[in-house]
Amino acid sequence: MSRRGRSRGDRGARPGAAGGRKGTGEGGEGAEAAGRVVAHHGVAVLVRLDSGETAQLWLAPGQRAVVGDRVETRGERIEVLPAHGVLRRRDARGRERTIAVNLDVLGIVIAPEPREPPGYVDRGIVIARTASIEPRLIVNKCDLEGAEALAERLESIYGGSVALHRVSARTGEGREDLREALAGGRLGALVGPSGVGKSSLLNALVEDLELAIGPLNRGSGQGRHTTTTATLHLLEGGGLLVDTAGFKDFIAVDVGTLDAARHFPGFEAAVERGCRFRDCLHRSEPGCAVLDALAREDIEARRHRAYLGLLADLEAPTLRDRGTRGPPRPKGS
Ligand code: GDP
Ligand code: ZN
Repeated sequence: MSRRGRSRGDRGARPGAAGGRKGTGEGGEGAEAAGRVVAHHGVAVLVRLDSGETAQLWLAPGQRAVVGDRVETRGERIEVLPAHGVLRRRDARGRERTIAVNLDVLGIVIAPEPREPPGYVDRGIVIARTASIEPRLIVNKCDLEGAEALAERLESIYGGSVALHRVSARTGEGREDLREALAGGRLGALVGPSGVGKSSLLNALVEDLELAIGPLNRGSGQGRHTTTTATLHLLEGGGLLVDTAGFKDFIAVDVGTLDAARHFPGFEAAVERGCRFRDCLHRSEPGCAVLDALAREDIEARRHRAYLGLLADLEAPTLRDRGTRGPPRPKGS
């Protein structure tokens, strides 16, 4: 995705004069260094350079960057590189808000208690895939009774589509697997309903939760402490995990019916074979590979029903504009 195409309506207006804009990177004049924005403080960003050093760098007037952005320092300026893995949603007033950029992995956390709303996992997978982010299912609280049954049920539905991790923030089970999934500098985020253990998992995975915030330069002359809405945490093994309040609304990320048709978990083989119409929604169209698979029972009827339920949710504009997930649907998704 090109930078130009990215709406950053959530950044707010830059102060007209970002006076004293200056680089404090170790790269120095002319020298170029690459890094990643790990925290955002209004007119400045905290960048973790690939060398391992951290630098606070000023944004130029009007320049926008969000946590997760890759940047290059050019003397006193920074250049924000094009991003992939962008999650955006609309807020209540219809403005676009960027949740995260450069995500490689989206961990959809589920637990035996509390259970996720019907359709949550399907929608999460479609959202991730639409943004070219790899979805993974993370069954947390595996120390609890009922977790194994849940994991097996999810495996039977999603096993052919996405990786599934059994973990426990409490006992540490599965922690290494998660770190490995992000090894080599991949950027991940944990999403899921409130109470499934996302914060607990972050705590279990990250040694030093203050890591990214520590070096904030308080003597910048800016005279204010802007709060950071999201923070990147470095994991053992080189992975990065983003922690942000914005992810609460991740399920409200705009996806269309065609995105669902292309990315619904379990439809991969049929979609790969291809339907007669490129914009087939797999409802009643002739020559539909998904309906063929359904007739042959390669796709289960309840999965096709879950898919139709998601389409109906996505087609309910008034509900979607209010940021809700649409009317409740029967379980079995
Ligand atoms: P979040 O809302 O998704 O961030 O969930 P929290 O991390 O706040 O956890 C919600 C509750 O679940 C807390 O009471 C945690 O102690 C509990 N919890 C989190 N992870 C586990 C786990 O692996 N096992 C058990 N038994 N409880 C957990
Ligand atoms: Zn079709």
